[in-house]
Amino acid sequence: MGNVNAAICRAVDAITDAIPNAIRPKKKSKHVNALLIVDVQYDFIDGSLALKNCPSQHQGEQVIPVINKLLDEIKFDVVVYTQDWHTPDHISFYDNLPLRAHLLAKDSKSMEELKVFDTAIFVFDNERQSRVEQILWPVHCVQHTHGAELHQDLSIVKSNKNRQVINLFKGYDSDIDSYSAFWDNMKIRETTLHSRLKGYNVQQVFIVGIATDVCVFATALHALENGYKTHIIKDACRGVDENNINLRLNELIAHGCSMIQTADVKSLI
Ligand SMILES: [Zn+2]
Repeated sequence: MGNVNAAICRAVDAITDAIPNAIRPKKKSKHVNALLIVDVQYDFIDGSLALKNCPSQHQGEQVIPVINKLLDEIKFDVVVYTQDWHTPDHISFYDNLPLRAHLLAKDSKSMEELKVFDTAIFVFDNERQSRVEQILWPVHCVQHTHGAELHQDLSIVKSNKNRQVINLFKGYDSDIDSYSAFWDNMKIRETTLHSRLKGYNVQQVFIVGIATDVCVFATALHALENGYKTHIIKDACRGVDENNINLRLNELIAHGCSMIQTADVKSLI
């Protein structure tokens, strides 16, 4: 009997360990707060998809000291680092177009017409005949390559009794891209982020990183859908295309997102 009880206790402990403890707002804090640091990876800064070579000509590395200062000065309850993490045969790479030429939709540009940064339309031969609109990017953030690593100058904080740290990888399904840290682009598979943030009782998220009009935008949109009070810290983000950045930020504002600067964060915590 003792052995059975011990086994039950061990099982209960294991379950309890698996459920993250909800965090209560700190004294003087209004909310439980998370900082979402999106894709501060080499390939977006000085690698194959460096923003400085995109229409915006933004310098991606400029987000790093701003984010480091935030991590240093603000006591976020949860810090999330996301990484774009693609397989070599990933659908989002222009170079992989020949692998899926047979899936191009009739109304898509053809293999010959499509250029890097164009949008291809694929139809997957599954029960739903899923149509996938995919921007064809240069090869970037391939799993386990230097380009996929977080930039070495970014402060990497650790979990402690006052702070939980989550590392989140996205875009590892070869056939579905994932701009958002919450969902893949087809909204077929949800990542663990929402359940983990809910488990910690997070109510408010601050989003920073790269790229404003792509992964920062998609992450913010889903954060809003999931009911978080959502802020984009504009001076801690850089994007691909200035026109698109403005369009996307206005779309987020229409959904209730607030646009702030780092100097505003303290008063919102
Ligand atoms: Zn990607």
